[in-house]
Amino acid sequence: MTTHKTRMLIIGSGPAGYSAAIYGARAGMEPIVVQGLQPGGQLTITTDVENYPGFEDVIQGPWLMEQMQKQAEHVGTRMMWDTIVDVDVAGGSPFRAVGDSGDEYIGDVLVIATGAQAKWLGVPGEEELGGKGVSACATCDGFFYRGKKVAVIGGGNTAVEEALYLTNHSDDVTLIHRRDELRSEKILQDRLFASEKISTLWNKTVESFEAGENGKLGHLVLVDTVTGEKSTLEVDGAFVAIGHAPATELFKGKLPMDDGGYLLVEAGTPMTEIPGVFACGDVMDHTYRQAVTAAGTGCMAALDAERFLATLEFAEKEAAE
Ligand code: NDP
Repeated sequence: MTTHKTRMLIIGSGPAGYSAAIYGARAGMEPIVVQGLQPGGQLTITTDVENYPGFEDVIQGPWLMEQMQKQAEHVGTRMMWDTIVDVDVAGGSPFRAVGDSGDEYIGDVLVIATGAQAKWLGVPGEEELGGKGVSACATCDGFFYRGKKVAVIGGGNTAVEEALYLTNHSDDVTLIHRRDELRSEKILQDRLFASEKISTLWNKTVESFEAGENGKLGHLVLVDTVTGEKSTLEVDGAFVAIGHAPATELFKGKLPMDDGGYLLVEAGTPMTEIPGVFACGDVMDHTYRQAVTAAGTGCMAALDAERFLATLEFAEKEAAE
C-alpha cells in the first residue's frame, strides 16, 4: 500500500475532472486525478463531437478526452489508474480516499467529478447499435438526423425535452412511453402536445432495436404493455431518455444529495456543505449535462479550491505566530 499526498485530490476523469486538474496544476496545487473505471468518462463512448467549442471540424469524443488528459498531465497533474472505493470527508481537510488498488490518497481539498451515466433499457440491439442510430443524448447527436425519422423513449422531463429539441432537425418525432401519461412537467407536456412534428405511442415498451440493411438502426420492435401485442416502428434514430444515474454511491450518508442522488452544492458554486469538498460536472448537474458545462464547473471547483487553500494556509500561519 502506498500513500499519495496532494494539495488537490480529484476523483473522476471526464471534462470536469480534467478541467479542474488543468486549473489546479497551473495554480501550483499539484493535483492527483484518480481516473476511475472509465478514464475520460462518458465522451469516450461517443463518436462525433460537434458542439465542443474550439474545433472547426467534427472531432471524436475519445480523442477529445485524450487531449484533455495530456493537457492536464503536461501542466503537472499526476494520473492514477485506480478506482476510489472509500472516502472519508467527515473530519474536514485533509480528506482521505482509498483506491481499489489498496493505495491511500490524501488531499487538502477534494474535488468530486465522478459524473453520471445515462440509463439504458438493456434490450437486444441497444448496445450493438450505439452510435449507429441509438443514442442517449439528442443535444449531442440530434443534428445527425436532420430530415430523418426519430423516436424518443421515456416519459419524464428529459424525454419530452429531447423530443422537442429533435423537432429542430426532424419533422417526424415519435415519443414512446410505457404508460398512458407522462411524468414530465405540464408546461413541457403542453408544448409537446402542441407540436405537429411529434406523435406519441402510449403503453409501449421497446423489445429490441433492429438493424437495417446498411447495418444501422432500421426499426424498433415494440410491445403493448396492456394487450401484449407486438408492432414495429421504422426509425433512423432512437434516443433513450429514461433518466441518468449520478455516480454518487461512494458519498451516500457522507454528503447531501437530492432525490435523484445528485450531490447538492451551494447555488451557483461547486461548494458542497463540507468546506474543501467541491463537486463539479454531471455529478451535481442534472439539467445541462454537457461536456462544456462540466468543464466550466471543473474550472470553478479549482478556483474555489485555490481560495479555500489560501484561507486555510493563512489561518494556519496566524495560529503558528
Ligand atoms: P425521470 O426519472 O423523471 O423519468 C424517466 C422516464 O423514463 C419515466 O417516464 C419512466 O417511466 C421512464 N422509464 C424509466 N425506466 C424505463 C424503462 N426501463 N423502460 C421504459 N421507460 C422507462 O428522468 P428524467 O431524466 O426525465 O429526469 C430526471 C430528473 O431531472 C427529474 O427530476 C427531472 O425533473 C429533471 N430534469 C429537469 C429538466 C428541467 O427542469 N428542464 C430537464 C431534464 C430533467 P415512468 O413514468 O413510467 O416511471
